[in-house]
Amino acid sequence: MSFLFFNERLNAYFFLLGVVILLFPVASFAQTWEVVQGDVISIELPVSANSTDIHAFGKSWPLKRLDSQHIRTWIGVDLATKPGRYTIQIRSGKSHETQHIDVKKGSFRISRIEVKKKMAVFDAKSLKRIRADQAAIRATYAMRLPETPDISIAFQPVQGIVSTPFGAQRFVNGEPRSPHSGLDIAAPEGTPILNPLAGRVLLAESMYLNGNTVVIGYGNGLVMVYSHMRKLLVHKGEWLKGGAMIGKVGQTGRATGPHLHWGVRFNNARINPLSLLK
Ligand SMILES: [Zn+2]
Repeated sequence: MSFLFFNERLNAYFFLLGVVILLFPVASFAQTWEVVQGDVISIELPVSANSTDIHAFGKSWPLKRLDSQHIRTWIGVDLATKPGRYTIQIRSGKSHETQHIDVKKGSFRISRIEVKKKMAVFDAKSLKRIRADQAAIRATYAMRLPETPDISIAFQPVQGIVSTPFGAQRFVNGEPRSPHSGLDIAAPEGTPILNPLAGRVLLAESMYLNGNTVVIGYGNGLVMVYSHMRKLLVHKGEWLKGGAMIGKVGQTGRATGPHLHWGVRFNNARINPLSLLK
């Protein structure tokens, strides 16, 4: 009996110890943020100094001063970031603080499409064009623009049905391809595509796989790609207001039906466009 009693006391002791261990991190200052691969995380921080730098995933991230005591920062987690814990370094004046981001695996679907052979197996000439197209789009990710008001949008460029979600593992005619770095929204041909934020047209070209493609820069490293449009209605260098028409839904390039391919890069990270919606 006394042995049992001792055990119960021991259990109570371990239970209390467990409670203290569980509660302690909550009470401490460092915070951990949870995010899924491909998402943008928006964090408000108490920061008083003017010189503040937010560093995570080997990059600096934009910030906006909310008042004399607070800032808001946005951090983009690339689609292929290995799940696990990462640090955010916050340097503000002389103070230096570390917080953490826990990256969880996204539940990405598998997508299979069947297309004409010339859209799946490329001859040397087509391959050369595809590579040049990709390089032209990639070059826009590094283009720097003046600041944008926010890294968030109030509406998606076109309303419709998601035909291929972000991150989907693609198979084209049975062959595995890179994961889908954007969101495909199926809508009737000719549906207007509206610019979700004020920005500048960085590229407007007809491409082999992407069809009629427009890339718009929004500042702070935020860039969006719009592909398969019916016609090119804007030109490089043009500034577009939020709500302005970028083009109309089409099926140019490699498309199995009218849809918009909408891709988002933030500081070069491949971002789920839906994670920008307010
Ligand atoms: Zn797509």
